[in-house]
Amino acid sequence: MKNYHKIITEIYSDLKNVNDIGKVANYIPELANVSDSNFGVHITTIDRNSFGIGDSDKKFSIQSISKILTLTLAYQLEGEKLWKRVDVEPSGNPFNSLLQLEADLGIPRNPFINAGAIVVCDILISHLQHPKEDFLAFCKEISNNPHLKYDEKVAQSEKSSGYRNIALCNFIKSFGNIKNDIDIVLDFYFYTCALEMTCKEVSEIFLFLADDHFITQKGKRVLTMSQAKRINAILLTCGFYDESGEFAFRVGLPGKSGVGGGIIAIHPDEFCITVWSPKLNKKGNSYKGMLFLEQFTTATESSIF
Ligand code: GLN
Repeated sequence: MKNYHKIITEIYSDLKNVNDIGKVANYIPELANVSDSNFGVHITTIDRNSFGIGDSDKKFSIQSISKILTLTLAYQLEGEKLWKRVDVEPSGNPFNSLLQLEADLGIPRNPFINAGAIVVCDILISHLQHPKEDFLAFCKEISNNPHLKYDEKVAQSEKSSGYRNIALCNFIKSFGNIKNDIDIVLDFYFYTCALEMTCKEVSEIFLFLADDHFITQKGKRVLTMSQAKRINAILLTCGFYDESGEFAFRVGLPGKSGVGGGIIAIHPDEFCITVWSPKLNKKGNSYKGMLFLEQFTTATESSIF
């Protein structure tokens, strides 16, 4: 594996005690119980070389990183029809904003903001008999990892405090872009956000977006090459909400953040790298995670540009 190991180790020790100006998310009460000193990094290359450091084997709440997984399954099941229900444009607004939906008549700007992911969950509910179980089975299959599970406490915590998401779902339903019962859609959405994984597991589950030849243990492709390219394109332009431009500018890779403090970044044909550090900047993205990835792609000259 290139010199990734050495460079990751160096940047990790430089940043470990950096003054982190971020704050741990507390609008989901359970997330506030996570120690803000956690810091882990894991890289998996497409030839399955793997290296982790720090808290890379501790489980954390992947939150919005799961929006890639729900989108992938919905794209598999629905094909191009999907884009009639959710757009592929950057929003330039916070992840939980209601603002644009009114003008856009209930069609969310993209699948990586909350509004878009809630519509994607609605689409999945229309296809799946047991949405929570079937989605988890899908995640286990594409990662070849039987240990994945939802964190019940996080799911319940968000369910009892998710007023904005409840508002979003109702608002979208008023435009006719939610077909199922809102309580069922929201329950499923909160569970998908509450998936827990380690940095290592996150870097493995997204290999299908880095490796053109990826097939599951059962010998199946997850997406066509064209579909994987499209998901990477939306990640690059929309993966960090109103900070997507900044992430492309500083890091230069498709990626996705979550309010649990995780970030996955994908280098097509090369690797997936995950950083976890729970303190978030004002846009809801991991402060140290962004800093780490900026230094990593600079030192390894491995941005896509
Ligand atoms: N579950 C979180 C929410 O809906 C996900 C947001 C995020 O990770 N950016 O608010």
